[in-house]
Amino acid sequence: MAMVHGTCALCFAPGVPLKESHILPSWAYKRARATGTANPDPVQVRLGTAVQTSKQLTDRLLCGRCEQRLGTAERYASTLAYKADFSTDFFSHVRRLPRVGTSVPVVEPVTLNLAQLAYFGASVFWRAHVSTRTQGYSMGDRYAEAFRTYLLDPSSPPSRTAMILMYYEDALGQGSKYGTTFVVPAQCRNGDHHAHRLVVCGFHFELVTGGVLPKTFRKLCLWQGSDRRIPIQNHQFLVRWFAEVLPPIQPKGKLANSGGS
Ligand SMILES: [Zn+2]
Repeated sequence: MAMVHGTCALCFAPGVPLKESHILPSWAYKRARATGTANPDPVQVRLGTAVQTSKQLTDRLLCGRCEQRLGTAERYASTLAYKADFSTDFFSHVRRLPRVGTSVPVVEPVTLNLAQLAYFGASVFWRAHVSTRTQGYSMGDRYAEAFRTYLLDPSSPPSRTAMILMYYEDALGQGSKYGTTFVVPAQCRNGDHHAHRLVVCGFHFELVTGGVLPKTFRKLCLWQGSDRRIPIQNHQFLVRWFAEVLPPIQPKGKLANSGGS
């Protein structure tokens, strides 16, 4: 493949060879395909509709050093995401908290590196913003710059933003019907702030920017929250978000006959 030189989108080094960087991790594509679902491709939501893109979203964005910089957290996330057989090691790194009534189940990290997961989620949002291949997605230039600074120096998290992490599990120990689904970052308006969503093989990152940040987000924020618990969502949460636009998925393996819709 021809070498392309340019300015690195992350560190701004000029005239460097640019890597063909994945916007979404390549392991997510591998797992979705290996699952043998009817629609293994990522869902891309734009202009109020969802489309599936069969091409892996890549763009020449980063120098080799920055590609590696983002790679560490991406590899770490891969060890905690759902695998192609819908198994996951995530729950061996957290403690399940007693459920209060009918509230959403929550877990607290035990051996989970939340800083790495936050970095991973932030890096995908940022990559989707700077890439011209993800039409319709923008986090706003001001926030994108704050995220660029954070990705270069994780000790300076972006201000006036909050990001929380949720994880999918349909029932206790049962995995998730949409365990290998992934969604290109999408934004929606929620009150007086913008919400951005990213779903990757069990992880659901939700980022809010601007205005008065919702209290729950401030509390659970991966960067400055006082209470870094992780809500566990049934796949219906994802289905409700997409309403009719989420394509039907027929999981194989143990989930195939686990019922639910
Ligand atoms: Zn760079």
